[in-house]
Amino acid sequence: MKSKIWLSSPHMSGNELNYIKEAFDSNWVAPLGPNVNGFESDLQSYLKEDRHVAALVSGTSALHLSLILLGVGRGDEVICQSKTFSASANPIVYQGATPVFVDSERDTWNMCPIQLEIAIKDRISKGNKPKAIIPVHLYGMPYKVDEINAVALKYDIPVVEDSAESLGSYYKGINCGTFGDLSILSFNGNKIITTSGGGALVTKTKERKDKAVFLATQARDNAPHYLHSEIGYNYRMSNIVAGIGRGQMTILDSHVAKRRSNHEFYVNAFKHIENITFLQEPEGHFSNRWLSCILLDSEQTREALRLALEKENIESRPLWKPMHQQPVFSKYPSYLNGVSDELFEKGLCLPSGSNLTDNELERVVSSINSYFVTC
Ligand SMILES: *Cc1c(COP(=O)(O)O)cnc(C)c1O
Repeated sequence: MKSKIWLSSPHMSGNELNYIKEAFDSNWVAPLGPNVNGFESDLQSYLKEDRHVAALVSGTSALHLSLILLGVGRGDEVICQSKTFSASANPIVYQGATPVFVDSERDTWNMCPIQLEIAIKDRISKGNKPKAIIPVHLYGMPYKVDEINAVALKYDIPVVEDSAESLGSYYKGINCGTFGDLSILSFNGNKIITTSGGGALVTKTKERKDKAVFLATQARDNAPHYLHSEIGYNYRMSNIVAGIGRGQMTILDSHVAKRRSNHEFYVNAFKHIENITFLQEPEGHFSNRWLSCILLDSEQTREALRLALEKENIESRPLWKPMHQQPVFSKYPSYLNGVSDELFEKGLCLPSGSNLTDNELERVVSSINSYFVTC
């Protein structure tokens, strides 16, 4: 059996263990400590724009706290990009609120600003103005920030930017992860950098960050005994995990460069295959190319190719199945134009890790080439 080629696997720099050792040596084995502060300030320097970062246990917990900070609760509605991973939408339901799904446009595969405005107008006409909008930079490709923000501003609705897949991506030269009223990052095992599991909330003010950290550490009021006047959560990142994050920050830019070069490699390798197309970067959009995705001519081709790769022990995966098609979410309102359904049918994510070797990339390409020769 040939060795397994993964879609996207963890890629350590070698510096991580130094930070972890430091944590052990100083006995900071807790959900606070110098690595947590250090990782947060590394992220703040990277993102620029004077943002404040709270390191948390996951991107999902960061989304959950975002909605809590915005006062989302029972009976409220929150607009969410339909084409995404379920974690973008789950926290809406944690809060007892209703997700309203909005379809994608073709230029970036992300939330369509036109559908967004249609959805907002319709929800307002039904007497329930949405409390927040959650757009996603899918696979690292920035959404149409100016257009989405213009609609959000027009109706005065805050944006929670799901930047889980797009650390190291830029829109008009500015870092993804800084465009929302609140933004979130993820450091899950398959993301562009990983802390094994982890996430962060990015805020525009220190007050918001402090409030998030307060809620993430069981909402302890300032008193010598345990005193609580609010419901709290156990969402703070541990000092051990943050040590991995500090090590990962030292090689983030090289991971972005390698993922972009993987993508370039595939684009060049499949130039001659008419039935394979790629998502190009629109003017002003710089993608970290977290995952390299191809579009095939039909669902049949996509599935046959996926199975052919599986036979070669190569992992590939259809693009995210839209939330409006998920059994758990299909009962909620959605505003659709067919784009995300078509992308799900025809799209396939190829191995994209920053640790892929030339040999492995060649294996992926030759497997795909031989599929198209023999079919
Ligand atoms: C990974 C991911 C999340 C969730 O992040 P976790 O750290 O795994 O909780 C949220 N949204 C999107 C788009 C993601 O890809």
